[in-house]
Amino acid sequence: MPDKGLRELYIDELKDLYNAENQLVKALPKMAKASSSDKLRQGFVAHLEQTKGHVQRLEEIFERLDQSPKGKKCVAMAGLVEEGSEMINEDFEGDVLDAGLIGAAQRVEHYEIAAYGTAKAFAELLGESEDVSLLDATLSEEKETDEKLTQLAETINKQANEAPKLESRSEKKHVRRIA
Ligand code: FE
Ligand code: FE
Repeated sequence: MPDKGLRELYIDELKDLYNAENQLVKALPKMAKASSSDKLRQGFVAHLEQTKGHVQRLEEIFERLDQSPKGKKCVAMAGLVEEGSEMINEDFEGDVLDAGLIGAAQRVEHYEIAAYGTAKAFAELLGESEDVSLLDATLSEEKETDEKLTQLAETINKQANEAPKLESRSEKKHVRRIA
């Protein structure tokens, strides 16, 4: 009979997060590169730096717990990252693509907010107060990032809605679809 408790589940959740954050370290430069808006690009670059810090905080926790951070793949993050790259490869550009990138990035932030919230609650119950502070520091940054993205979306979505709908592009698309 399996006999794993909350502590083992906590370690599992942390491994999942560690893998998720490392996937983001690779994905965020691509999101930045695909952005048209300077503010959005700078936002992705800034969050990349924060994300490297999230990896370090998790490494610190694993060291404290005397555990290895490796051994899990976060399939949810792999899916979210895949959706982000699909967005980049669609026929969207400029403000419209930016609006799509923000949507993809906010899905990522919400996933992280949920995962860090869970991990923090487990750390509290397990009496790992230093972990609680570290997890909370990252959780705050994820929430701030989500809010910044919402603010950026307010302008960018409007610009996307005003963007000229190029006849030639939609015709091209139509031809491709019926071809
Ligand atoms: Fe993160
Ligand atoms: Fe994040």
